[in-house]
Amino acid sequence: MGKVVVVGSFNVDHVWTTAALPRAGETLSGEYATGPGGKGFNQAVAARRAGADTAFVCALGDDMGGQLARALAAADGIDLRGQRSERSTGTAGVYVDGEGRNSIVIGAGANADLSPAFIASRRDLIAAADVLLAQLESPAEAVLAALRAARASGVITLLNPAPANAVVTAELLSATDILTPNETEFSALLARHVGERIEGDAVAALDQARLHALCRELSPAGTVVVTLGASGCFVSHAEDVRRGDDNAYYRIAAEPVRAIDTTGAGDAFNGALAAAIASAPDAPFAEPIRRAGRYAALSTERQGAAASMPQAADVQARFG
Ligand code: ADP
Repeated sequence: MGKVVVVGSFNVDHVWTTAALPRAGETLSGEYATGPGGKGFNQAVAARRAGADTAFVCALGDDMGGQLARALAAADGIDLRGQRSERSTGTAGVYVDGEGRNSIVIGAGANADLSPAFIASRRDLIAAADVLLAQLESPAEAVLAALRAARASGVITLLNPAPANAVVTAELLSATDILTPNETEFSALLARHVGERIEGDAVAALDQARLHALCRELSPAGTVVVTLGASGCFVSHAEDVRRGDDNAYYRIAAEPVRAIDTTGAGDAFNGALAAAIASAPDAPFAEPIRRAGRYAALSTERQGAAASMPQAADVQARFG
């Protein structure tokens, strides 16, 4: 079994489903549901259910949200290492209207406290992993400390540069072996680091050689995987790091599924990709990419984010 360490956020999601999104001064009634969220936790659940021995490093408040995180991690067999914070556990308030549009407010809370010192105290855990996976709902300096600790021990580093408004520094990029932006995040990265303005929804239509050239400028020594929703993903390798593939770049189509809720598809993809690489680090890279695509596709047939993450056996039963 491969070992994955996920460094990232945990939120308690509060979701109101209303006929329309609330406007200033308006009071509405709607259906309410609560559950776990945060990109870090969602990706840890995906990595675990996809079959990896998974640890989750995060920061939690000393409150009911923190207890929920510990109970849910234990239920899934995830080794949770939580830094205790004076602030409340992270929260997200989500309104969803009748057409599936949403408005979201995130209260980072404890997530904002995750510190390089706490990461350093978990150096041995990180060094024993096959893959370290991080996102950017936690402080950039803590994420950088984690990527660097992994690198120092020869652990493969995977960074999902999400959310799109996060500041992705050059240091973060150069500490990353595999970068996995979606189209919106890729567009933001190009604007910041390559000086190219390409709208997110125009990315999938770009010529592959051009996409490859842009990825090479963005991360000259690393692998870039641009996820393209229902259009699958695009992979670009550095010339000297083919990761077992014959071609430096290629596209892989998405699995045909009846998607009902694509929330968390990116989290499913990242967690499953980390698990697949960890279980076979020397396999040609297209293989874990295909496994991640199947896993994420199946997650879109279920409602929710963490709750929609399938078990490895379900993916096997569905796609063989
Ligand atoms: P995000 O959720 O971060 O926006 P994407 O929408 O790009 O991420 O989805 C990540 C991956 O999930 C895609 O590369 C694809 O493999 C899979 N996926 C997403 N939406 C669908 C879909 N409608 N059908 C099949 N696979 C999908």
